[in-house]
Amino acid sequence: MQSETILEGVLLKRSQQKKKISPANYKERLFVFTQRSLAYYDFDKEKRGCRKGSIDIKKIRCVETVNPEECTPVERQYPFQIVYKEGLLYVYATNQENRRQWLETLLKEIKDNPFLLNKYHPGFFTNGKFLCCNQSCKTAPGCAIWEPYNTLRDPSNSKEHLPGNLKPKRPSLPPIPGEGKSSLGIAVAEHDYGPQDKSDISLMKNQKYHISSDKDPDWWKVGDADGKETGRSEDTSAEKERLQDYEWYVGDISRAQCEQLLRQKGKEGAFMVRNSSQVGKYTVSVFSVAVENKSGAVKHYHIHTNSENKIYLAQDHCFDSVPKLIIYHQHNSAGLLTRLRHPVSTKAKKVPSTAPLGNGPWELRRTDIVLTKELGSGQFGVVQLGKWKGEYDVAVKMIRESSMSEDEFLEEAQVMMNLSHPKLVQLYGMCTEKYPIYIVTEFMSNGSLLSYLKDHGKELQPFQLLEMCYNVCEAMEFLEHHQFIHRDLAARNCLVDNDLAVKVSDFGMGRFVLDDQYISSVGTKFSVKWSAPEVFHYSKFSSKSDVWAFGILIWEVFSLGKQPYELYDNTQVVEKVSQGYRLYRPQLSSEEIYEIMCSCWNELPEQRPTFHQLLSWMESFREDDSDDRP
Ligand code: AMP
Repeated sequence: MQSETILEGVLLKRSQQKKKISPANYKERLFVFTQRSLAYYDFDKEKRGCRKGSIDIKKIRCVETVNPEECTPVERQYPFQIVYKEGLLYVYATNQENRRQWLETLLKEIKDNPFLLNKYHPGFFTNGKFLCCNQSCKTAPGCAIWEPYNTLRDPSNSKEHLPGNLKPKRPSLPPIPGEGKSSLGIAVAEHDYGPQDKSDISLMKNQKYHISSDKDPDWWKVGDADGKETGRSEDTSAEKERLQDYEWYVGDISRAQCEQLLRQKGKEGAFMVRNSSQVGKYTVSVFSVAVENKSGAVKHYHIHTNSENKIYLAQDHCFDSVPKLIIYHQHNSAGLLTRLRHPVSTKAKKVPSTAPLGNGPWELRRTDIVLTKELGSGQFGVVQLGKWKGEYDVAVKMIRESSMSEDEFLEEAQVMMNLSHPKLVQLYGMCTEKYPIYIVTEFMSNGSLLSYLKDHGKELQPFQLLEMCYNVCEAMEFLEHHQFIHRDLAARNCLVDNDLAVKVSDFGMGRFVLDDQYISSVGTKFSVKWSAPEVFHYSKFSSKSDVWAFGILIWEVFSLGKQPYELYDNTQVVEKVSQGYRLYRPQLSSEEIYEIMCSCWNELPEQRPTFHQLLSWMESFREDDSDDRP
C-alpha cells in the first residue's frame, strides 16, 4: 500500500561518503516524501527512474540547514541535512524558499519521532570530520543546540494523553562537562606551540581548545578551558615549515634506498615523502602489493605546483601545503596507485617536547603539577586530577612503592610515550625522582568506560555503543600496526572523553604490575575472562590475543558493563572456553555485531581477524545505504 505524497521535487543529493576514501559527489534525484518515507529516485528526461534509497520517516532525528562550504557553486547554496538512525544525508534545495518548504514539511511529520536530537552539527561532515567541531565520528553528538527540538518538546506539544508505555521515549545524553564555551567547536593542538606575542597563550600537544573565532582562513582564535584566548592556533602556514615533524617526511634519500625501505615494509600503501632531485620540490613514493606479479611495485609521484601556487598530485585536488595534500591522499587514492596508508620513516622516534627536564627525557617537574581531586584507584594506586603549570588538566597516576617493576617500566616508557593516536590516552610524562612516582596522562572527563556503561549505558543507543567499539578498534589498529601488544584490553582500561569518544588506556602496563593476584592465573585479578586460550594456557600474547580481548570488550559494551561469564569463576572459564563455550549474544547487539565478536573468539589466533580487518568491517556497519558512490 502506497501512502500519499506530501511533497515531491528534484533536489541535489550529496553522496554519503560511506567509505572515508570516497570523495563527495552530487547527483540530481527526485525526492518523494510520504507519511512513511523520504525516498529518492533516478530522474531522467522528466521521468522517475529506479529508487536509489529511502529513509523511514520514523527514524529521522533531526532536519536542519547546513552551513554551505566555502566557494560553493550556485546550485549548492541551500543545503540541508537529514539525520536519521542509520546515517546522515545532505541535500541541496533549489533556493531559500524551497529549502524552507522542505524543512517545515519534514519537521511537521517527524515531530513525534522518538529519538529527536537536541543538538546538531551546523557544518558538513567532510573527509572524515565535521567542519563545525572537528569531531571525526559521523555519529558524534551535535555541537550546537537544535532550536526546533525545544519547541517540539514543549510540554504543550507533547503527547501527554498517551498511556505511559506509549509515550515517545527520549533518552537524553548525559551532560558533557565543559561544553557550551563555544558554538564553533573544539580543536586539538597537533604540536606544542609557544606564544608569538603577549596576547597569545601557549598550546600543548593533544590538549583541547575552544574555537572562539574561525573568521580568518589561516588562523583560529582559540581559548583554553579557563577562557584565556590566543590570537592564533595551529595553522597550515606553520605546518609548511615543519615537514620534518611528520613521520612520513624522510628528506634527502635516494630513490633506490626509498624503494628498499618501502619494499621492506611490504604493506599496501606504504609511503614516504622525500626531497626531489629538483631543489624545493618533493616526491611521494608509494608501494602497492597488488601489482607486478604479486611482488609489488613502488611508484614515485612528483608534487606539482599550478599557476595559483597550489600543489597537487592529482590535478583536481589542489592544496596549499604538503601535509594537507598527504592527509587528503591518505583517504583518497584519486589516481594514485593506492591511497597512502602506512607512513614509512627513517627517523628515530622523537621525544615529545613536554618533557625537557629531570632524569629521563620524559621527566616532568613535580612542582609544575597541583593535584586537585581523586579520580579513582587502580592496580598501581590512586589516580588524581591535576593541573599542569596551573593551566592544563591532567590525570596523575600515583605509583605506590613496590606496586610496579619500575626499571622495566622506565625502559619502556619512552616507547609508550611516542605512541600517539587520537584514540589512545596520551602519556605526557612522569615524575620519577621519588615515591609516589607520577605518571601524567591526558585527562578524560567521563572516567572509565566500564563505569560509564554501568551508569549511563541505558541512555546510549546501539549506534553509540558501536561507535565506542569503533573508537577502541581504531586505537588497537594503530597499536597492531606498531607491533605493540596491549595485553590487558578491557572496558575497565578504556576511558571516556567529554564528547563520548572512547580512548584506550594502560597499554602495555600489565607487564609492570607487581601483584600476585593480578599476575597469576589463579589470582582474582588476572584477566582470564578477557584472555585467549593461548594466553591462559601458555602466556602467549600477540595482537591476536588483543583481538580476543577486543571481542570481550564489544560484549561488555553491548551488555552495558556486565561481567563476562558472570556465573563462572576463572577456573571454570578456562575449562569452558577450552571446550568451545563462548559468551551469548547480548540483547542490544545485532547478529552482525555478534558475528564480529565470535570471529575474535576463534580458537586459532591465525584465524581471528586483524584489527585492520575489524576496522573495515565495523566501518561498513557505521555506513548507511550505498547508492550514489562515484
Ligand atoms: P587505573 O589505575 O588506570 O585503573 O585508573 C583507576 C581509575 O582512575 C579509573 O577507573 C578512572 O576512574 C580513573 N582514571 C584513570 N586514568 C584517568 C584519566 N586519564 N582521566 C580520568 N580518569 C582516570
